[in-house]
Amino acid sequence: MAKIVLDPGHGGTAKLGGSSPNNAVGQGGMLEKTVTLDIGLRAEKLLTAKGHTVKLTRKADNNVGLADRAAVAKAIAAPVFVSIHLNGFNKTTQGTETLCDTLHSSLSADLCRAVQKRMVAATGHTDRNKGHPGGVKRQPLGVLKPSSHHPKTACCLVEISFMDVAAEEAKLKTNAYRDKIAKALADGISDYLAAGSIEAVAAKGSFEDGFQAGGGKATALPKAASVAAKKASTATKGAKKAAAPRR
Ligand SMILES: [Zn+2]
Repeated sequence: MAKIVLDPGHGGTAKLGGSSPNNAVGQGGMLEKTVTLDIGLRAEKLLTAKGHTVKLTRKADNNVGLADRAAVAKAIAAPVFVSIHLNGFNKTTQGTETLCDTLHSSLSADLCRAVQKRMVAATGHTDRNKGHPGGVKRQPLGVLKPSSHHPKTACCLVEISFMDVAAEEAKLKTNAYRDKIAKALADGISDYLAAGSIEAVAAKGSFEDGFQAGGGKATALPKAASVAAKKASTATKGAKKAAAPRR
């Protein structure tokens, strides 16, 4: 049985620590922050019933800063952290996607794929992860920042659907659809845990994108080595910047 942290996106009325109070809004006025909390609470029930220890980063309509959300998982070295969101764009675009930070461990990639698979099956929408390397959409996301998380925490952010599409908002009003989504989330997490990827990856010691489980150990390096590492990384950043086209 595992410790699982669910993070209902947004909340409250004011921006806090990089977290906006609300983002997507349905055409009928449904708010993303209300749905994310409700789905989180439903998934909590399902996962608790399976014997897991579940913590939510918020259980009411209050905002929590992005680093503080991650800190809930870091404090208990939770193997799983999933941030729950819904999208909004132009009232017609529809699809389901699950994101990892640009710097993410292969544990996070595994969790991302497991959650996305179940969520796409539940919503029946376009798989917006399709075509992305390894089926993982990458984006720099404050709540998934590797430096805010325990290296063994697999973390991802699911954008269930675009709730600004009228038909989707109507479905999201029903208990049946909310239960279906919550079950997909719980099942995706269970699939990840059942695959035993934690042990497998720890044994293999392989991580993607240069983010390593021992990344936190950098602070323990002798000062000279750490300064050299910093210089090297700055140089790489500079080189990348120079190669980027100016717009
Ligand atoms: Zn959001």
